[in-house]
Amino acid sequence: MTGNIHWLGHDTFKITGGKTIYTDPFSIARKDTADIILITHEHYDHCSPEDVKKLQGPGTVIIATPDCARKLSGNVRTVRAGETVTVGKVNIEAVPAYNTNKKFHPRDKGWVGYVITMEGKRTYLAGDTDLIPEMKSVKADIALLPVSGTYVMSADEAAQAALVINPRVAIPMHYGSIVGSASDAVRFQEILHGKITVVILPKE
Ligand code: ZN
Ligand code: ZN
Repeated sequence: MTGNIHWLGHDTFKITGGKTIYTDPFSIARKDTADIILITHEHYDHCSPEDVKKLQGPGTVIIATPDCARKLSGNVRTVRAGETVTVGKVNIEAVPAYNTNKKFHPRDKGWVGYVITMEGKRTYLAGDTDLIPEMKSVKADIALLPVSGTYVMSADEAAQAALVINPRVAIPMHYGSIVGSASDAVRFQEILHGKITVVILPKE
């Protein structure tokens, strides 16, 4: 179920399949060529032009919010929540991401998460967000959820979000780099024990 998802730290995932997809590239150690790069918002640990360049080839499609897209070059498509972009057979829907009890990600910034549909599997990258009402309508097989607290959901809040989304597998992210630690991921897993399968991916 999660064999094609590789965690490179923070919110950076490499998702393989029909296309090679990278999310929010940050602190990229190994050069690679992505088919698709998804960026959730303009904060430096999510929208990093120098890390994007390490993964960008002539055919790479970058999908980003307008405030991040301005910092990038190449085949960049801007999205707002509710919009869908199709690249080959991969469908990417931008969904809202914002804080409700913190001030770092105001709703009016229009920052996003993504639901990626590839080879029949739906993967939800939540972005920097709290538990928001829109999560009730997210349908995902796999949910990638931030657990660090401070700027995003805490492990407890993320567990509540997982119960709302009810994916087959939840994977914690947004810890171990800027804020949050492995103990947040473990706590997230423990709270959901017996309710939702949580896979803590090793950092590659
Ligand atoms: Zn942020
Ligand atoms: Zn963040």
